[in-house]
Amino acid sequence: QLKKKVLELEKGTKKYPETKFLNYKDRKRILITGGAGFVGSHLSDKLMKQGHEVTVVDNFFTGRKLNVEHWIGHPNFELIHHDIVNPLYIEVDQIYHLASPASPPNYMYNPIKTIKTNTVGTINMLGLARRTRARLLLASTSEVYGDPEVHPQNEEYWGHVNPIGPRACYDEGKRVAETMCYAYAKQENIEVRVARIFNTFGPRMHMNDGRVVSNFILQALQGQPITVYGEGKQTRSFQYVTDLVEGLVALMNSNYSQPVNLGNPDEHTIMDFADIIKRLVGGDSKVVNKPAMQDDPRKRKPDISRAKLYLNWEPKVQLEVGINKTIEYFRNELKSTKFSERL
Ligand code: NAD
Ligand code: UDP
Ligand code: UDP
Repeated sequence: QLKKKVLELEKGTKKYPETKFLNYKDRKRILITGGAGFVGSHLSDKLMKQGHEVTVVDNFFTGRKLNVEHWIGHPNFELIHHDIVNPLYIEVDQIYHLASPASPPNYMYNPIKTIKTNTVGTINMLGLARRTRARLLLASTSEVYGDPEVHPQNEEYWGHVNPIGPRACYDEGKRVAETMCYAYAKQENIEVRVARIFNTFGPRMHMNDGRVVSNFILQALQGQPITVYGEGKQTRSFQYVTDLVEGLVALMNSNYSQPVNLGNPDEHTIMDFADIIKRLVGGDSKVVNKPAMQDDPRKRKPDISRAKLYLNWEPKVQLEVGINKTIEYFRNELKSTKFSERL
């Protein structure tokens, strides 16, 4: 299949998804760091279809070329293999800064690298924004609220994070990334946008990502036990990726520069969630309890009043609709027999 795709490219017969034509005045040069990852690739799709020029920068730690393969060769698209811990000199109008490992097993795999990406990497992207006068949107996270004492979480809440725990490399990395954004805004007049993203799922999540949605669906599809960490009383609120992408684009193009929660307030316990996945996938997987994760937030649910008020945004995709699409995606992934095709 890969060979066929390469041949199509060589012969110039490759078909691309439909894109709008934007005239020079409206067309923006948009950089997406981490654009070959799960969220970044969906964001690339949206911005490419709108007719913008999209540059994806990725070191392929958790992202993969296959996620953006359908754009490779398109005149409006560029894919750069680059690690943002190193400086980057290109010309851009907007920067969606998403590069960072995002799932707990991935960001804990090499905590020092996670810290470097979120600190040095973010400084580099802010330096780039400073030189080009581009607007920068930071993909921050609900993890800045840590194990929250306020429920649901609104943007005024300062959070409850263990600075030396196993999640700190990510949580504190994102917290200081936010701090750096507002320092550059104040000192250098950079336009910044900060999205605090809550748990998101959908097609193109990595198979071995280790997040609850991909784990449970893959376990159910393969007839393996569904692994609930701890008693499963902890809660999460899941949003479908296309809702998030709409929110990111709305925030980038809004006049609002304070942090904004983007998430779906539909809250479930992890045990409930295991039952939902079991029901939707079918099969006869058993639910088993595994040891609880250290510092695992006990509750999480976004207060999205700000996004509603300033962006006129709210999630639209129902949980079951999104989960069914994700199940379909993983079914196909499992079918593609050659491991190399899944990379
Ligand atoms: P992902 O792992 O699929 O994507 C992250 C991408 O960043 C990958 O393509 C990876 O290769 C790339 N990357 C990592 N380090 C890099 C570096 N040093 N240089 C260049 N590229 C690098 O994860 P995702 O779910 O798409 O997350 C995207 C962003 O959204 C992340 O910043 C994450 O923190 C944030 N976020 C995601 C969620 C979620 O539930 N998916 C929730 C909160 C925040
Ligand atoms: N930087 C970058 N691309 C640019 C401009 C800057 O990667 O187009 C990096 C630069 O290497 C520096 C960082 O961004 O390490 C911060 O840049 P800034 O201009 O704020 O600071 P300075 O260069 O004065 O350290
Ligand atoms: N979880 C679980 N089983 C798994 C993976 C995760 O019970 O196989 C739990 C995890 O302990 C957490 C929740 O599901 O309470 C969400 O985990 P995830 O890694 O998806 O994201 P987090 O919100 O913790 O960043």
